[in-house]
Amino acid sequence: MAALGIPANTIEILRKYKFNAQKKYGQNFLVDPRVLDKVVEAAQLTREDYVLEIGPGIGTLTRYLAERAGGVTAVEIDKNLIPILEETLADCHNTVVLNEDILKVDINGLVAQQNQGKPIKVVANLPYYITTPVIMALLERHVPFKSITVMVQKEVAARMQAGPGTKDYGALSLAVQYYTRPEIVAQVPPNCFIPRPNVDSAVIRLTCHEKPPVVVKDEALLFALIRAAFNQRRKTLANAVGNAPGLPYSKEETADALEKLRLSATVRGEALSLEQFAELADFLGNLY
Ligand code: SAM
Repeated sequence: MAALGIPANTIEILRKYKFNAQKKYGQNFLVDPRVLDKVVEAAQLTREDYVLEIGPGIGTLTRYLAERAGGVTAVEIDKNLIPILEETLADCHNTVVLNEDILKVDINGLVAQQNQGKPIKVVANLPYYITTPVIMALLERHVPFKSITVMVQKEVAARMQAGPGTKDYGALSLAVQYYTRPEIVAQVPPNCFIPRPNVDSAVIRLTCHEKPPVVVKDEALLFALIRAAFNQRRKTLANAVGNAPGLPYSKEETADALEKLRLSATVRGEALSLEQFAELADFLGNLY
């Protein structure tokens, strides 16, 4: 199989199958071998690793993964790519392609079936329209993983790494940092893809924490508070929590809790660190 990761070979295979990239599926195929090398290097794959790839496209990255990992499951939504993948991955005997929507797949079930429930590595050039739901699903459903190495829109990578008090800081930053250690490993310009996306991209690796960096009694309450805070980002945290339909705490109770934690009663959620959100969750969780 000729290397797909160079423009001429990708164009040839797309022509052969009369395949037109679908915007609605975020189809931007990687055509830069240096970037492909960077992605797999960042994932630090060995034969001990089982990989879940989301959106294999025409199989360019998949071939790199299959060569290095013990096994790969690649989940692709577009049925028109399946015949192409049958050709491009014909000699990858450790690779399984599933024609599914990743947002509808029982990923924990898949890991149980393919890797006996042991932690996997996720590696993908993600379709950008579902980056946040995919990452949140992996984190919130407690999918066992060692790391997630993904190409995402540059701004989304920045949000994952952002700290309190910055414009990029939000619910995604806190969820990512609660479960993982994020590191941006490469910046990738639009000319590394066919067709070119309208945005700059970055490769980010999220390494699963062995122990969460903060201990909280009720994880669900922690994330409910975080969601409330950033759903109404311009409001004070006390107001945002007081208004949140799913939370029983009044504005006054929240303001009082913040003061007990030596924070201002009028602070906004964007100023609180993960530790401070955890303290607030523990304090409020004791009220009822
Ligand atoms: N991995 C290939 C590469 O690097 O060249 C393609 C990456 S392209 C950015 C994203 C891929 O994800 C496309 O193949 C697209 O069809 C697929 N995709 C989009 N939405 C999906 C979904 N909900 N579930 C699974 N795959 C999806």
